[in-house]
Amino acid sequence: MNVIVSGASISGLFTAYLLAKEGVKVEVYEKEGLLGRPPRTLIVTSELNNVLGFLPEEIVLNKVNYIELFSRTTSTTIELKTPDLIIEREKMVNYLAHLAKGVGVEIVLRHQCEGFALFGKKVTARIRDLDSNKEFQKSVDILIGADGAQSRINLVASRNGHLLTTLLQARVHLPMGQNPNTVRVWFDSDRTKYFYWLIPESERVAAVGLVAEDIQQAEECLLKFLRERGLEAFEFQSAMVPMHRFGFIGEVLSKEHNVFTVGDAAAQVKVTTVGGVVTGLHGARALSYAILNGRNYSKALRELKIELNLHFLIRQILNRFSGEDYDRLIGMINGRLKNTLEEWNRDELKQSFLKLMWAEPRLIKLGAKALIRSLL
Ligand SMILES: Cc1cc2nc3c(=O)[nH]c(=O)nc-3n(C[C@H](O)[C@H](O)[C@H](O)COP(=O)(O)OP(=O)(O)OC[C@H]3O[C@@H](n4cnc5c(N)ncnc54)[C@H](O)[C@@H]3O)c2cc1C
Repeated sequence: MNVIVSGASISGLFTAYLLAKEGVKVEVYEKEGLLGRPPRTLIVTSELNNVLGFLPEEIVLNKVNYIELFSRTTSTTIELKTPDLIIEREKMVNYLAHLAKGVGVEIVLRHQCEGFALFGKKVTARIRDLDSNKEFQKSVDILIGADGAQSRINLVASRNGHLLTTLLQARVHLPMGQNPNTVRVWFDSDRTKYFYWLIPESERVAAVGLVAEDIQQAEECLLKFLRERGLEAFEFQSAMVPMHRFGFIGEVLSKEHNVFTVGDAAAQVKVTTVGGVVTGLHGARALSYAILNGRNYSKALRELKIELNLHFLIRQILNRFSGEDYDRLIGMINGRLKNTLEEWNRDELKQSFLKLMWAEPRLIKLGAKALIRSLL
């Protein structure tokens, strides 16, 4: 069996590695000239270790044990049972590329996958060499789009792009008195439906950012936020991130089951926090399992879909939260609710969702009120 992967980033390289390890011939085409560009500071849960099956220490910049949550009038601190990991995208991508090459994956840079055509059981990928600007075609058994939020493979097949949102973050010097072991999150629903964050990369540097509707709003809000806190940015990182939608089934793109998407290309993103690293890796595991065992990819994604749908449900409620709702929510985080949040991480919502409701039944009332208010 031979496979082409479009996109040499986290989900594409991990899929390629898992397939090639079992003897599949895999070529990965990447449009950029360097792997892992642009660099990006990422925070992930300890689930990274479970989904990868290993944790390369060289990609970890920092580990954090505490998350401080702020609303307008109150705050609380969550002590994580297992620390969150701060990782660097470029380092992670290069690590995965090294692994993939080690099992025979061929990675071709400066080559853009432009589309595909189906011929019987085969799929022909159209690839452009960006140096010579010449296009050529390659016929394979399976084509995988791991080409990110604005996936060409997804667009060619479905004509519908994903619903996108903007993430913008600035690298700053860690503010005086800020513990490098603590992430800070501010909810301010007047400025963003999501939140602002401060993620310490080390004892000296932090990433401060937000999610916003578009880049203009993101820039205005972030610059204001930095000014208010006396922080000066020395680097900005931004890109579009796709939003998972309830009932999305677009990751299988051909009747012959030989064209698939994974990671951001399949909108495998938790829309509560707009995090796609761990979920994209779970997507990669599901896809490689389905290909290697002749199983249905959609079925292999069932567990991940339940997780993503729960995040979608919570996001629908949070999108309707006012400043007062956040004050109430954070005021409720104590006792059993706090213990549950400390024990279960945000990649384990399937396991913790009912426990959270059980620990604090007023959460249901708070969510229901926000939903009803938005309908009136
Ligand atoms: C500023 C910022 C901060 C973030 N922070 C976090 C975080 O803290 N935690 C978290 O979990 N997630 C975070 N995310 C989201 C996370 O980065 C993505 O969900 C994740 O990187 C997606 O990985 P991927 O491999 O699926 O796609 P991508 O990393 O987008 O990779 C797609 C690859 O395909 C290549 N490509 C695109 N088109 C083509 C083509 N036609 N042909 C060939 N190659 C192509 C691209 O060059 C790229 O290398 C953040 C995103 C941003 C923008």
